[in-house]
Amino acid sequence: MKFQSKKRFRLVLTVFMGFILIGALGFSAQKIPISFNDYHGFTGTVKYIKAVSKAYPSITRLVEIGKSNMERPIFVLVISNMKTGTTIDAHVKLRNMRREGVKNVPPMKPYQGKPGHWICGSMHGNEHTGTEVCLYIIDKLVTGYGTDSEIKQLIDNKTFYICPVVNPDGVYNSVEKGLSQRRNSMMKDDDGDGRVNEDGRDDLNRDGFFTRFRYKDSKGRYVIDDVDPRLMVRLGRDKKTEKQRYSVIAEDKDNDGDGKRGEDSEQGIDINRNFPEGWFTDDDMAGGTGDYPTSSPEAQAVVEFFTNHRNILMAQFYHTSGGFTFRPLGTAPHDKLHPKDVAIFDMIMGKKYLEIIGEEVPEAWQKPELLDKFKAELKKSSKNKYAISRGYELPRGWKVSYNEARDRRYSYGMATDWAYLQYGIYSITTELWNSRKDIKGMPELKGEDARVKLERALLKYQDEKFGGKLFVPWKKFDHPDLGQGEIGGWIPKYRSNALPGSPLLNVCEMHWQFELFRAGLMPAIEISDAKARVLYTTNSARGAVVSQKVDQVTIKKGKSKGKYRVVEVTATIENKGKLATHVARGTQLAGNREDVVWLIGDPDKVTYLQGTPFQKIGILEGIIKIPGYSAKVAPAPQQEQRSPYMGRMWRFMSQYYPRPRRPQQRPVPTQVKGKGPKRTVKWLVAIEDNAPLKIVVTSQKGGTKVKNLSIQ
Ligand SMILES: [Zn+2]
Repeated sequence: MKFQSKKRFRLVLTVFMGFILIGALGFSAQKIPISFNDYHGFTGTVKYIKAVSKAYPSITRLVEIGKSNMERPIFVLVISNMKTGTTIDAHVKLRNMRREGVKNVPPMKPYQGKPGHWICGSMHGNEHTGTEVCLYIIDKLVTGYGTDSEIKQLIDNKTFYICPVVNPDGVYNSVEKGLSQRRNSMMKDDDGDGRVNEDGRDDLNRDGFFTRFRYKDSKGRYVIDDVDPRLMVRLGRDKKTEKQRYSVIAEDKDNDGDGKRGEDSEQGIDINRNFPEGWFTDDDMAGGTGDYPTSSPEAQAVVEFFTNHRNILMAQFYHTSGGFTFRPLGTAPHDKLHPKDVAIFDMIMGKKYLEIIGEEVPEAWQKPELLDKFKAELKKSSKNKYAISRGYELPRGWKVSYNEARDRRYSYGMATDWAYLQYGIYSITTELWNSRKDIKGMPELKGEDARVKLERALLKYQDEKFGGKLFVPWKKFDHPDLGQGEIGGWIPKYRSNALPGSPLLNVCEMHWQFELFRAGLMPAIEISDAKARVLYTTNSARGAVVSQKVDQVTIKKGKSKGKYRVVEVTATIENKGKLATHVARGTQLAGNREDVVWLIGDPDKVTYLQGTPFQKIGILEGIIKIPGYSAKVAPAPQQEQRSPYMGRMWRFMSQYYPRPRRPQQRPVPTQVKGKGPKRTVKWLVAIEDNAPLKIVVTSQKGGTKVKNLSIQ
């Protein structure tokens, strides 16, 4: 007998080990090869993410979120363990059920019940370095799942939404066609001549590239460089010279005979000015672009996706170039940000970012306990009132697009501001690529001709590493509008993006490390110590008389014992993640709700004696102390002020027009008090028969967790 059970144990063990092996192999055997020796463009990107989603069905889902004006799809690759996660939809019948097939309101997927991290590239088509970084991150995540425990943890418990190409037409034209296109594409008659897109750029000498045309011009702003004659040096406005002056323009001609070049191209609007934040338009001035916010299909697709994926807490909108990060805000000054979020952005994320890109971390971020001292010092030395109120100037590598020196907003309708202000997301825009810093051995940016020195070094670099193939040598050309001159110059797609090969890989690796760090900050909700204890049994669900004084509950037993069991349920809800489940303004944002915990059972068999079916638990804080921030010192979050006049008017009006009474008032959900990352929740219920119970805690950005209760 003993021998047999040992044998059986061995058999079970062997089968079990087998499953583990199959599981591990399943992830290591399918790597989709990817290289960064050139850009993927739109076509290469779609091919790669389709292959990845096929090879890793259990941790990825490819979702088409919209189409561009030229009907190219916009894809989001969802990366998350598809077997884990749940949403409240799966447990509670909602009043407004989401159904498949209803446009834009599909039922929530299990991965929406985990904290979400959005990463996108190429909202500006010619800034396609971001697309490459997205692909690098995808590769790291899916190949790391089987081998790296940190990555496995993240994919099991969080959700990455990666959109490598937000602007498919812009990227297609910039990379595949070789035209530099920042904006989206539109079928639009820009010059009002009744024809659409008839005067865009031209490859005049038909060499396959859209480069530049230089010609002798006594009023020109350029001269040929003495050291490298390929290089055109731009002169200062009043700079005098003995040399031949040149004008340099795009390789282009007047296609429609109106005397203008390139005035009706395929270029449409700037997607990153088309978001519904700070957007306005009046007769003379457009605050943002497009006919209305989200008039571009690309901005609309992103806005709809965020609206339906309220689990997004982190967002990165990659642009190029500069080698620094914009944290919010651009449309409004620093004091519109909550001081707690300022501390999270700067002292936690900004500090890490500067360390990764190798820039000096401000002293105030290293010693946040001395902020008052730094403020006093700045009061004497700085004219920037925002810097004085913070205790530090923002460093080159981590800043805002708002112009603090002139107290002027940068722009309107930008995605990052929109995501932070309206959805409560830690959104940032990283301007990838700084050629001087990201290529080894580039000259320091110092002295009068610093720029020219860098340009010479870049030309030399592409001679050595790319055999000079990224720069088209100047060749004589007879321009139909301008006469004799030469065509040549950098191939545009390489001009302001990370150069392929090791410089690009270096950029990818740094920014993958940074997003990995940010993903690790997200909340992690757990239900611990859940207990259901039978207090006594009774024939009537309402047989118990319950009275409550502060924290004490007294139950007077009914006399008869019977089929109902009166059960006390207790649970501890805990956030074990680093950051809270919402940004500082939390539930003051229109779409944000506080975290909620449900006790769910068959509604016909469970009667709630104490505690409503769901209880509100506020916002669960994270476990880390936010450096440089104290809730006691910082001002209370701004709240919308109701005008006292409206209040008086309302009271006056209501004397004559009393509010109709609601026939049936819904019970007000119990509010669980408490601060910090933990809450203790309690219910008293009467249960008929053996009706099962479960606890579901659900937080928009902190995730949803379930625990089945065994009643004892
Ligand atoms: Zn940009």
